[in-house]
Amino acid sequence: MSEASLTFDVQRLVRENIRRLTPYSSARSEFSGTAEVFLDANENAFGSPAGNHYNRYPDPLQKELKGRIAESNRVRPSQIFLGNGSDEAIDLLFRIFCEPGRDSALICPPTYGMYKVSADINDVEVNEVRLTDDFHLDLPAIRKAITDRTKLIFICSPNNPTGNLMRREAVTEIARHFDGIVVVDEAYIHFADEPSLISDLNGSPNMVVLQTFSKAWGMAGLRVGLAFACEDIIGLMNRVKPPYNVSGIAQRAVLDALDQVDKVASWIREVLIERDKIRRKLTAFDFIETIYPTQANFVLAKTNDADEIYRYLVDRQIIVRNRSNIDLCAGCLRITVGTPDENERLMRALNDLNKVRANK
Ligand SMILES: *Cc1c(COP(=O)(O)O)cnc(C)c1O
Repeated sequence: MSEASLTFDVQRLVRENIRRLTPYSSARSEFSGTAEVFLDANENAFGSPAGNHYNRYPDPLQKELKGRIAESNRVRPSQIFLGNGSDEAIDLLFRIFCEPGRDSALICPPTYGMYKVSADINDVEVNEVRLTDDFHLDLPAIRKAITDRTKLIFICSPNNPTGNLMRREAVTEIARHFDGIVVVDEAYIHFADEPSLISDLNGSPNMVVLQTFSKAWGMAGLRVGLAFACEDIIGLMNRVKPPYNVSGIAQRAVLDALDQVDKVASWIREVLIERDKIRRKLTAFDFIETIYPTQANFVLAKTNDADEIYRYLVDRQIIVRNRSNIDLCAGCLRITVGTPDENERLMRALNDLNKVRANK
């Protein structure tokens, strides 16, 4: 254990009302052992039209699932929070640590939009410290922007929408020098060529690593996100979350999916191959000015007329993300890697557009 972890006192950062909170005690948390007759939760004892077991409330702490996730990530189950998407984890962190109307959070745009929306919903001020021109963390500017009201710093790595990984040492240095919570959002880490920061959690007790089953794992529709952190932070998230925040169907489906790591790994390999193909092919078009390096399952490209290209693609029933009106992303489109067929269709459309424009 590092010195930092011995001196880190998370309780000091927690809102007064949360510190005083007596959490809801559900039927399933007051008795979770084995028994034969369950008459404690006002469920329908006859069954469920949706199928076996769905008449019963799910495990509020998702123990079986966390056991499996703990093994593959080399952490203890008590270091894992599971939520209704990682968006739930983001919202909980605001509610636990930021006093509305008083505290603030620091974000580094261009980045994932939910940090600011979640801050706004919770009436928490946002300090923005832009990324540098090459989309990296501006450490001196971040240091300067931190005040004694700053409770959370959000770092997205690989970053959405720019696609790049932040330098590991930059992230751990921020965690070392900041006495609030550093949230590292690794939604796209499975596509990156560097490992997760989960392995640095012991040395950075004020760090929360977010991941999700929505992207590489292919379960966006199930809504399951993860947070990894020290036991104290995870304990707080469990106290504040709605008791049954991950449905029984979702818990079952993710458990089954964890048996199919090989399938997911082979999809990831295919995405990376397709991603490189897309990047190579994009260079052929006159209207593409820059293709940024990416460690995610999307490509950010600067074009000379994002709105026109976007509309042209929509007319061809192809939807990409127009990011041209956000800071540092003028002219940029964000293109998610699809199946080989879908990517081919995109390239045909861009090829046609190229011809149309050449004939003008
Ligand atoms: C897609 C995405 C998420 C995922 O959110 P879920 O609620 O888990 O689906 C989180 N962070 C970033 C940066 C993303 O792009």
